[in-house]
Amino acid sequence: MTVRTIGIIGGGQLGRMLAMAGARLGLRTVILEPQADCPAAQVANAQIVAAYDDPAALDALAAASDVVTYEFENVPVSAAEALARSIAVYPPPRALQVSQDRLAEKQFINGCSIDTARFLSVDDQQELEAALDAFGGVGVLKTRRMGYDGKGQRLFHSPAEDRAGAFAALGGVPLILESLVPFDREISIIAARGKDGTIVCYDPAENVHRDGILHTSTVPAAISEATADRARKAARAMLDDLGYVGVIGVEFFVLADGGLVVNEIAPRVHNSGHWTEAACIISQFEQHMRAVAGLPLGDARRHSDCVMQNLIGDDMTDVPAWLSQPDVLVHLYGKVEARPGRKMGHVTRLC
Ligand code: AMP
Repeated sequence: MTVRTIGIIGGGQLGRMLAMAGARLGLRTVILEPQADCPAAQVANAQIVAAYDDPAALDALAAASDVVTYEFENVPVSAAEALARSIAVYPPPRALQVSQDRLAEKQFINGCSIDTARFLSVDDQQELEAALDAFGGVGVLKTRRMGYDGKGQRLFHSPAEDRAGAFAALGGVPLILESLVPFDREISIIAARGKDGTIVCYDPAENVHRDGILHTSTVPAAISEATADRARKAARAMLDDLGYVGVIGVEFFVLADGGLVVNEIAPRVHNSGHWTEAACIISQFEQHMRAVAGLPLGDARRHSDCVMQNLIGDDMTDVPAWLSQPDVLVHLYGKVEARPGRKMGHVTRLC
């Protein structure tokens, strides 16, 4: 079947960039998003304004689309599964299920023979005390679900730290305690798998976070070829295990000996892959649209070294200066209000 229209669940900047990349291949897009005039709908062919799990809206999305994908990992699994009964949904709903829960995610990753931080599930204050004791009083406590950009986390630096009320302070929801990984740097890899099982990997990017939010991605990362190879192998193993179709983002901690530990996976295009639109002929966004449309995957090689920087909140005041620089691609998301911590756009400087 020739795919002409792709339904996208979620209307943020990732959906926007998918719609723009799809348009260049002659693909139409329909966005399901409760917020009217969202960033994605501004550049798509149509928007269904409704909740992500609204049954009538899901029926309408299936009717309007040849295939459905999503741009964020907190799409209700039940909605993706319901859709998958009548239309192809890529990446597969199992990828959502795994990535929505930090516990299931780590079990899946370890099941692919890939290392993660050590972890213990924590369902009450007593389990928290026991888990902290097991990790020598040091670790990162995270909500299992709905955490992003460092939200829903608490770092325990030392055994002397006050633990009282720590479980309740994160909302009384299921948690996971992770051992603190003594990493040298953080990298991520963006990879894509096509319907025929072909896999392509972009070069790993080195990521720097500020206040829990990605600040810059630099390519190439300062890692050895052996470490880059480990990252590619890990991505391939997970893509194959999931029978995946589309783009995935995998975040790693790099240890002093060049070993890798996966932090998390994102079953979608990823902020740390935005550089690909400037430094590769085929961006992660086009790659994803090709994969879910059943088209041949494209070349993932980069033609330039580069640094991508996010524009957060007030960084928007720098836009005129960025626009005046050579070798800089400015990409803005069409968000009207520049709130603190809000991703407004990004710039990629070729070097
Ligand atoms: P996350 O929300 O899980 O991506 O975590 C946000 C950031 O916190 C990561 O990019 C790391 O810089 C840091 N971090 C998270 N988990 C750990 C860990 N287990 N050990 C050390 N640093 C961590």
